[in-house]
Amino acid sequence: MAEKVVIIGSGPAAHTAAIYTARAEFKPVLFEGFMAGGIAAGGQLTTTTEVENFPGFPEGISGPDLCDRFRAQSQRFDVTIHTETITKLDLSSRPFKYWSDERSGEADTIILATGATAKRLDIPGAGEGPGEFWQRGVSACAVCDGALPMFRNQPLAVIGGGDSAMEEASFLTKFASKVYLLARRDELRASKIMVQRVLANPKIEMLYSHECTAALGTDGLERIRVKNLKDGKERELDCMGLFFAIGHVPNTGFLDGQIKTDAQGYVVTTPGSTVTSVPGVFAAGDVQDKKYRQAITAAGSGCMAAIDAEHFIAAQG
Ligand code: FAD
Ligand code: NDP
Repeated sequence: MAEKVVIIGSGPAAHTAAIYTARAEFKPVLFEGFMAGGIAAGGQLTTTTEVENFPGFPEGISGPDLCDRFRAQSQRFDVTIHTETITKLDLSSRPFKYWSDERSGEADTIILATGATAKRLDIPGAGEGPGEFWQRGVSACAVCDGALPMFRNQPLAVIGGGDSAMEEASFLTKFASKVYLLARRDELRASKIMVQRVLANPKIEMLYSHECTAALGTDGLERIRVKNLKDGKERELDCMGLFFAIGHVPNTGFLDGQIKTDAQGYVVTTPGSTVTSVPGVFAAGDVQDKKYRQAITAAGSGCMAAIDAEHFIAAQG
């Protein structure tokens, strides 16, 4: 028999959808993935340290702890959770068909909450482990990590030439003594208004045609090595925080073109809802949101997807 609701994903969007649909007695089945997109079940928050902007935790909470709590709340309402990645869907007719590494089945409705993966630069010092500074100065989310005490009144750097990089560089000037903004070309992709704001900000030093070749330090990040791509010259800059803003990749490859996505692969939803191009399939969280990309907005849209799915099932009788 087809499941009423199958949820794909494991971040705040997926678990909020699970909690709501479970409490509505739809017995949701959630596929949390097994290192899907290279990220542990729990999603992007498993890759960060402190989360200070999720309401309800005035002292802050570690990303992995918050993910554990989302999961525990789903379990409290008897959500069936499979630690498997969904590899294929057939959305051509209802009930929809799904396949994971270990099983297949059918679903009346599907909630896509597979998130997105922030791109990271593969440069020496920016990885994880000894002598590397990922989450010890190197981050892919200035909005999330920028306000940490370690970055206050320190020189910081952002890499990227898009709107995210402009926004993050401007945001970081609230805390930093100075922000270097490195763009690999001699022009910026970002919208004019964002660029103007950056260029007018005395705390931001624009480094066009520059790339970062290494993150350096001892216990944490202290310096970056940058290369001028025009003359090939390298130098070191004092820098206590390095933020990648080089884009995200939505985890939509497995949809195989069956759902309408935009040019960058994000699922297109009807504004103000989680409705996708396929009736009965809903999308929540970062997989359909390239603007806000926060845990709380993902959770909020997970709630919307649950309610949209409930209404859909009710309308089908
Ligand atoms: P995600 O968290 O992206 O999780 C989706 C997960 O679903 C995937 O990671 C994977 O495990 C699973 N999955 C993917 N494909 C499949 C599949 N085919 N089958 C089964 N499972 C699958 N936001 C904040 O509000 N505050 C912060 O402090 C904060 N810090 C951050 C720090 C970092 C380093 C990063 C990268 C992001 C941070 N964010 C923060 C952003 C926040 O993590 C995201 O906005 C939020 O996690 C998005 O939630 P989501 O539910 O859409 O999915
Ligand atoms: P974009 O894809 O627009 O920009 C990514 C940037 O990163 C580009 O400048 C790109 O350089 C650079 N880049 C990519 N790979 C590398 C690399 N390996 N080394 C160095 N630089 C690299 O992503 P964004 O996240 O900035 O924006 C995504 C979407 O979200 C856009 O549509 C944007 O408009 C929107 N957005 C809107 C905001 C707003 O309106 N307030 C805020 C944030 C995002 P290059 O230009 O050379 O390709």
